[in-house]
Amino acid sequence: MSPLRELLERLKRTARLPSPPGAALKILDLARQEDVSLAEVADTLASDPALSVRLLKYANSPLVGASRSVTSVREAVILLGMRSVRMMALSFSLVSVEDERACPGFDFAQFWSYSLAHAVAARRLAKQNKKVAPEEAFAAGLLATIGKLAFALAAPAEYGPVLTTGGGTLGDTTRLEREAFGADYRALGGALLKDWGIPSRLSAAVEFQSDPTSPGLASEVRPLAATVHEARAYADAVRSAEPDEKPEGAGRGDAPARQRGASDAGRPALMEDMRREYQGLADILELRCVAVVDIDRIQAEAGEALSELSLAAQLRSDAVERENRGLQEKAWTDGLTGIANRGAFDQRIEEVWRESTRTGRPIGLALLDIDFFKKFNDCHGHLTGDAVLKAVAQCIPQCLREVDFVARYGGEEFAVILPNADRLVAAGICVAIRRSIEKRRVLFDDKTHRVTVSIGAVILAEPTPSYSTQMLIEAADQQLYRSKEKGRNCCSMRQLPRTPALAAVLAGE
Ligand code: GH3
Ligand code: MG
Ligand code: MG
Repeated sequence: MSPLRELLERLKRTARLPSPPGAALKILDLARQEDVSLAEVADTLASDPALSVRLLKYANSPLVGASRSVTSVREAVILLGMRSVRMMALSFSLVSVEDERACPGFDFAQFWSYSLAHAVAARRLAKQNKKVAPEEAFAAGLLATIGKLAFALAAPAEYGPVLTTGGGTLGDTTRLEREAFGADYRALGGALLKDWGIPSRLSAAVEFQSDPTSPGLASEVRPLAATVHEARAYADAVRSAEPDEKPEGAGRGDAPARQRGASDAGRPALMEDMRREYQGLADILELRCVAVVDIDRIQAEAGEALSELSLAAQLRSDAVERENRGLQEKAWTDGLTGIANRGAFDQRIEEVWRESTRTGRPIGLALLDIDFFKKFNDCHGHLTGDAVLKAVAQCIPQCLREVDFVARYGGEEFAVILPNADRLVAAGICVAIRRSIEKRRVLFDDKTHRVTVSIGAVILAEPTPSYSTQMLIEAADQQLYRSKEKGRNCCSMRQLPRTPALAAVLAGE
């Protein structure tokens, strides 16, 4: 057994290592299955009330910017997307784990607020880097220092002195950890995450966070590890309550790295974004933010605010209840097929569009229309038509990537949003959908029916605000029309030129 494995086994025997609660582990387990359904993920999340509350708070927070309130976990999953939800589930259930048996000198509030800031910074940096998935960066940042928590909980007697000498919870303790345990918190963190069954990309990024170019790290994980590394430099400044606080004074440990990034005054917008997200999440997670605070002042202010607060809370909960009632009629899910409905689509396309124009990453949109659908209704009755609709809706998600989004767009039409998809990816997905529907046999009333769809897709390789979501939809619709003209059961796709003006010139308008 390797020394690291031995250390982990030894710490495991203390039965005090941190572990995510059952629901989060189940979500991670679901993440490994190919054909996991949205309902399964939502049900698992809903089984953990604390987790559900946090997820709903997040979905309703300004950070997500949903245009109406999200009242069920299922809606939250539709709104946020599965990938995002999985990472959030893990994060939301771990953050603020506290345990009084940790060693003296380990400050949980400091630890989690730093981890959250690291996560937020990593996600924000990842949004500028095509090679790194933002939610993955968030989880890697959040878990980057989990090894420290593990030491503090499972070996408090030995770790206490390390913290005292090494500068406290956020100090640079790696050398002392190696001396005391034969491994530092990064190595232990990586091993622990592997042990939890977390995707190996994450455990590797945590293990190699300080050395992202190491030959020991698979090349496809290097960008993620480098993002975690870079994010460290921002984490302290992100946590500071005062926007003009000098990050140089705040940092301990890994000082050169922190100063390099955090004092970079040329990126105020980036820092502002990070601070805003951090504050929003810290509120949701009810983290005690760890800036230096004046307790007396806070208590005085709290006394005044408290009476207003309870009234405001009452008004708010009344409003939420009223809204809940209204929402039951216009939920986000299509009642017949169980997939997202038009309202969810309208909301999602705007979000993806905003994100795409901000990052410059490509965006694709596909519209599907069932061929000769009227004949199912006319020859076999509406219930057969409904069965066909359900079957088609079931085929589509299996052909999509996690980031994609499918909705019932109208009667027998479906729409698929393809964020960050180039022509090849989009074409592959469209063809896969068309084939899987063609192969599907719909059994209803002892009769078997075949069904086909026509698909029209557009890709915008470099999204700019000169286009709009409406233009994308119209362009996809034109392609759908072409597919119908070509004889149905086929796909047509167009890559739009850089600007609508150019598109008009090319179209000879
Ligand atoms: P095409 O190949 O040109 O698309 O032919 P089509 O027969 O599919 O033509 P069209 O798009 O005009 O037909 C759509 C029909 O779908 C009309 C409407 O009655 C039916 N429809 C819309 N929503 C539902 C539904 O929820 N259930 C059922 N059973 N039928 C629906
Ligand atoms: Mg139609
Ligand atoms: Mg049709």
